[in-house]
Amino acid sequence: MPGLHFAGTLTQQRDFKKSTSGFIHGFRYGVRALHRILGARHHGRPWPVTPLDDTPEGIAAAVIARINRTSALWQQFAVLGDVVTVAGGKAAYLEEVPVAYFASDEFPAYETAFVVTLEYGPDHDQVDPFDITVPRIAENDAAAAHDASYLHPVVRAHRGGRVLATHHLAENLENHWNLPDVHVEPLIVFVKAVLADAPVPAVAPPASSAVVPPVDSDAASSAAEARQG
Ligand SMILES: Cc1cc2nc3c(=O)[nH]c(=O)nc-3n(C[C@H](O)[C@H](O)[C@H](O)COP(=O)(O)OP(=O)(O)OC[C@H]3O[C@@H](n4cnc5c(N)ncnc54)[C@H](O)[C@@H]3O)c2cc1C
Repeated sequence: MPGLHFAGTLTQQRDFKKSTSGFIHGFRYGVRALHRILGARHHGRPWPVTPLDDTPEGIAAAVIARINRTSALWQQFAVLGDVVTVAGGKAAYLEEVPVAYFASDEFPAYETAFVVTLEYGPDHDQVDPFDITVPRIAENDAAAAHDASYLHPVVRAHRGGRVLATHHLAENLENHWNLPDVHVEPLIVFVKAVLADAPVPAVAPPASSAVVPPVDSDAASSAAEARQG
């Protein structure tokens, strides 16, 4: 019915079994976003914006600060994102924008935009996180971050209505995504390349192995028995 809006657990129809609108801890952020959308649509109140230094360092610093303290992006993974728009030497930071709203005609026109979400890797829920026999990438491995399975920041650069490039920040066991070499520097390099219209360089692999090898569970249990014996 036109003009009828829903808040609360019913909003899980937008992300059923994918994110957290079925729960208070998720839909409270959807409610706030709905309030902002209706304000922009009916009351001439644009989405709140924080002006930003438009340098790669300034944009990266703002993103790093937010992803290390946001609850909304943490709870509403892949559904809500922070947006940084860049145009004419000016940058602006918009918090907690529904990704679907950003992609809609209703979102104000932009030149270049970075959309920052927290996301799990594909099919992360198909494996038992406590199964040590499953191979997985090591934490803080920036070069393999695109293969990360668990919650980690993803930054997509948009221009002309399409995704230009995507940058994944490395998983971290304690969800600290602010290590200078691992998270900050590769993000600055990514933003710089996008703003300069240059190809995005690959992130150098770390000195240690990119993949944590699967554990031989038989050998592991024999060793444990030997220790106990
Ligand atoms: C066992 C359990 C544990 C949970 N644990 C958590 C948790 O740990 N964390 C978390 O975030 N979420 C949790 N949830 C989910 C959370 O409780 C719900 O998502 C939330 O309460 C939904 O709020 P709501 O206002 O959208 O809907 P509701 O609380 O269901 O409110 C809907 C209201 O509308 C009324 N109503 C329905 N039809 C009509 C009608 N025709 N006319 C008038 N009134 C009507 C109902 O009586 C009800 O009062 C849990 C849910 C359950 C069941």
